[in-house]
Amino acid sequence: MDIKVTLLGTGAGVPIPGRAQSGILVEVPKHKILLDCGMGTPLRIAESGTAVDEIDTICLTHEHLDHIQDIPALIKASWLKNKEAKYKIIVPKELKKRLINIFRCLDAPHFDDKNIMLNFEVLNPEEEFQDSFSIKAFDTLHTDMSQGYEITHDGKRIIYTGDTEVSEKIKNLSENVDILIHELSSLKKTKGHTDTESFISTFADTSPKLLILTHFYPDVAEKIKEVTKKIEKETGIQTISGKDLRTIQI
Ligand SMILES: [Zn+2]
Ligand SMILES: [Zn+2]
Repeated sequence: MDIKVTLLGTGAGVPIPGRAQSGILVEVPKHKILLDCGMGTPLRIAESGTAVDEIDTICLTHEHLDHIQDIPALIKASWLKNKEAKYKIIVPKELKKRLINIFRCLDAPHFDDKNIMLNFEVLNPEEEFQDSFSIKAFDTLHTDMSQGYEITHDGKRIIYTGDTEVSEKIKNLSENVDILIHELSSLKKTKGHTDTESFISTFADTSPKLLILTHFYPDVAEKIKEVTKKIEKETGIQTISGKDLRTIQI
């Protein structure tokens, strides 16, 4: 196994039965990386057979609740188990400031420097974090601070967009990528998000090896089978729709 991806949550801001909010677990040898941590993520982590303290790196894409809401709960769970939470939390610069303020308002006195030390690593777009894998941030078209992440390990690449409109930058990065995990929030053109037609017109001549669609609102979730087929047919890209706890190995 080189890389294993587990979709923890494939929903978005409006609850849908069976879909937690944004969360993806990426496993490379000796590391477990969590991408976003929306509502339901710690529960799905447990359901996937992973312990909360096995995760070592967390990457957060932006400030919206459906991507960060359960971060305090995850950190607290790890602290309850071990009296520490050793996550490296990779964030856009502005998000670090906001999260520190939020944590200090919540569940005092657990979230302060004497108890839980929060180990943030600010990563700006185009900057890279290196371990036995690498994580590079890239700009997305969503909020002032939003960014996606490209994870590379042993020549294999995964891209996770977080929330975004379709963009030339993501299109270029997606050429020959092993897995592109792209949001599909909407059936109609929506500012800051991706809809079916925009995706098709932008990615029609791009060649990711596998596309995984995620971040569904109820109208998309209802039609996801036909939307997935349409995208696959019109772009020629092998496409699967996200489902909670679905795993993909490459
Ligand atoms: Zn979102
Ligand atoms: Zn958002």
